[in-house]
Amino acid sequence: MPIKDELPAAPAQRPCWACGAVIDAPDNYCRVCGKGQGDRLPWQYKHWGIVVITLLGLGPFSLFYLWRSPAISRPAKIAYTAAILLLTWFVLDQLHRLWDVFQNTLGAMPVY
Ligand SMILES: [Zn+2]
Repeated sequence: MPIKDELPAAPAQRPCWACGAVIDAPDNYCRVCGKGQGDRLPWQYKHWGIVVITLLGLGPFSLFYLWRSPAISRPAKIAYTAAILLLTWFVLDQLHRLWDVFQNTLGAMPVY
């Protein structure tokens, strides 16, 4: 029997989604950058994580995690981006209205 048949097969390799380093396919964490792979993907890169980050105040900064995420498809990223930008615009618009009300209230106060 040839020796090569007795050697264990080299494990399949794949690039890390975060840093691009070549790691073994069964690895749960990247050996270079330490990012979780597959099921061990950090929560902020998952669908619900993006939603939580956006709503908990990171707002448009969640786009950073969104576009780096290997777990979300491109069409979904575009849809999320539109929703996040719309939400950001809405919040800014509300703040602007609140500011206007504040200014008008102060301006309407009689000055003695
Ligand atoms: Zn990596």
